[in-house]
Amino acid sequence: MREHILGLTKKLVVVESTDEKKEKLQEVIDICVKELGEYTIEMFNQNGHPSILAYVGKQRPTQFDVIFNAHLDVVSAQASQFTPVEKGDKLYGRGVSDMKAAAAVELLAFKDVAKSISRPVALQLVTDEEIGGYDGTNLQIKEGVRTPFVIAGEPTDFGVGQKAKGVIWMNVRTKGTVAHGAYQWKGTNAILKMNKAINSIEMEFPVLLKEEWKTTINIAKVETSNTTYNKVPDNCLMKLDIRYIPEDWKTIKPKIEKMLEGFELEFLEFEPPQVTKETNPYFQQLLASIEHVTSKKADVIVKHGSSDVRHFSRVDGEGVEFGPIGAGLHSDDEWVDIKSLDTYYDILASFLKNLK
Ligand SMILES: [Zn+2]
Repeated sequence: MREHILGLTKKLVVVESTDEKKEKLQEVIDICVKELGEYTIEMFNQNGHPSILAYVGKQRPTQFDVIFNAHLDVVSAQASQFTPVEKGDKLYGRGVSDMKAAAAVELLAFKDVAKSISRPVALQLVTDEEIGGYDGTNLQIKEGVRTPFVIAGEPTDFGVGQKAKGVIWMNVRTKGTVAHGAYQWKGTNAILKMNKAINSIEMEFPVLLKEEWKTTINIAKVETSNTTYNKVPDNCLMKLDIRYIPEDWKTIKPKIEKMLEGFELEFLEFEPPQVTKETNPYFQQLLASIEHVTSKKADVIVKHGSSDVRHFSRVDGEGVEFGPIGAGLHSDDEWVDIKSLDTYYDILASFLKNLK
């Protein structure tokens, strides 16, 4: 199995499947379709981002027990990173950790097991996760693809990402009145008005000095269109990046609106969080399979950043991020632990075989 996994991973890594090279996105999808062979494959495409859904049988079921989800797009890299290199126990290259090796393992585990079990399962491969996942995972959900449990093979060092934060991007605006800088009493300074908003944010959401499972607000930018010294600015814009815990999903917006009452607010992005209930039987089965294969208790973790799993939250789907050992995602030094890919395969295959 080792050679098979490595072979497919390397085939995927050499394709420069970044968003800047749309034709390469189709190329990685084609490699996977060829590898899958006889499964039913639904093809999707939106804005030049192809994706597929593979399963057994002619008809797509109303819902799958489980979907393995993987993205085949990568962020841009130095040309040399598109040549995979093995050094000791590690495989280096763009996307080995995030997440072409995991995609290869998900595909092979699915291919080897899906036909021999009676439960409906699917493999979902997309090419736009790095830019939001709207044309891949989210499009498929819009087209009716459903599951109570998705596993996205994002790098987690075998931790099971049970929760991930949701995201709000928003603008806050203040208006003042222009005056000459020497006659400030004749105007109203929009930046000073904004200062009140900044103070409220700092009071209610103090900057975390260490990792904590709390909602955070990053003040990303404060600007005015004023460019000179001798003018009282009459406008100010502040950009906020809010990362909220799933527990705050229903309350965060009214809380922000109350905190910033009187300010002009514009919500640009409001992305759901990801959360899987302890009682989800597939979640429990995954923990059991990890324990069975590794002889260690599974490590349940939380993630501060988000993944494509969040799209399923909109339709009450649940899921986790769960992937092999690696590091250096999005960096010049990205690697995946080769042995961990065998373990990852064993866990996923055992998980599928034990579905009831
Ligand atoms: Zn990723």
